[in-house]
Amino acid sequence: MYQKGRAWIELNIEHLKHNVEEFRSLLPSGCALMPAVKANAYGHGAALISKALQEQGIQSFCVASAAEGIKLRQEGITGEILVLSYTHPEQFEDLITYHLIQTVVDGNYARELQNDGRKFTVHVGIDTGMHRLGEWWENVEEIVKIFQMPNLTVTGIYSHLCVSDGKDAREQAYTLEQIHHFEYVVEELHRRGIHGFKQHLQGSYGILNYSELCFDYARAGIALYGILSGKQDKVNASVKLKPVLSLKARVESVKMLYQGESAGYGLAYCANRNHKIGILSIGYADGIPRNLSNRGQVLCNGKIAPIIGRICMDQMLVDFSGMEQVKPGDAAVLIGKSGEIEIRAEDMAGWAGTISNEILSRMGERLERVAV
Ligand SMILES: *Cc1c(COP(=O)(O)O)cnc(C)c1O
Repeated sequence: MYQKGRAWIELNIEHLKHNVEEFRSLLPSGCALMPAVKANAYGHGAALISKALQEQGIQSFCVASAAEGIKLRQEGITGEILVLSYTHPEQFEDLITYHLIQTVVDGNYARELQNDGRKFTVHVGIDTGMHRLGEWWENVEEIVKIFQMPNLTVTGIYSHLCVSDGKDAREQAYTLEQIHHFEYVVEELHRRGIHGFKQHLQGSYGILNYSELCFDYARAGIALYGILSGKQDKVNASVKLKPVLSLKARVESVKMLYQGESAGYGLAYCANRNHKIGILSIGYADGIPRNLSNRGQVLCNGKIAPIIGRICMDQMLVDFSGMEQVKPGDAAVLIGKSGEIEIRAEDMAGWAGTISNEILSRMGERLERVAV
């Protein structure tokens, strides 16, 4: 099937490889990348991305659910796969069948795994201050008990930083506290003769802002795809990251809108002059935020075309004023470069009032993913 007929994602695998190399040169030797390929690799397409990473020598991955882990196995991913969140006991079988490493989300969950009777490989989540998943860092005795459970093979412990992107004094102090809490747990385990488990703490911002830290793995997500969460974000590390994803759609039709005429649902756009408009074959079902209606831009033939009217489920309208050459069948660029101009995922996120992580991870199922 022709994949670029309607709306599609182009993946620049060279850029992905470049980003992997940038991270490798930034991280201390001995710290391996454990890319976050959850949520369909942040919308990029988990199979294509994970295979490309595997070819780059990546041997550990993190996913959000057992189901995501199973998909990777079915695509031939052979390394370690860590499930970052809860797996229901009805799905425990899958953890064994597909050799997935389960996160122990707290002490009670460890007992549930232990009492199941089968053997599981796990990493213990430690809550160092985010108050999301993990056993509380001060409960060292509880954490030790998890290590002693005969049905659990604990191969690692990890925590998650919740303000490592923050640059003000309070945020930095909080991150340092989280780091200390994590190191405290490690030391307490060592002091009790428990050794040989892997440790990991940093996501993208933890790596980019606290690159002096030295753990066994670094769970890079958003930045490995070559972008940051927000356009204004600044990071300490001087790395040159390149966006992996471009989002494109076809111009389906072009027509004139005359002064005083309205277009689209709710007649939400009204022309104040005669101008050319275009209809694109992409909509909110494909992940374009509906609040970009009458807001935001796309690119076509190296020029900017503003989004007009309400975004539909499968279509959207754009203003093609002054773009006489544009015709049906041309490709419009929603994220990526056209000629000299670029729209980055951070730009679309800014227009929509969110972060690029959300924009990307909501890229629709219907989009074809094409490696270029
Ligand atoms: C999603 C996630 C990551 C990756 O985060 P990025 O900020 O995208 O790098 C790392 N660790 C955990 C626990 C996560 O949930």
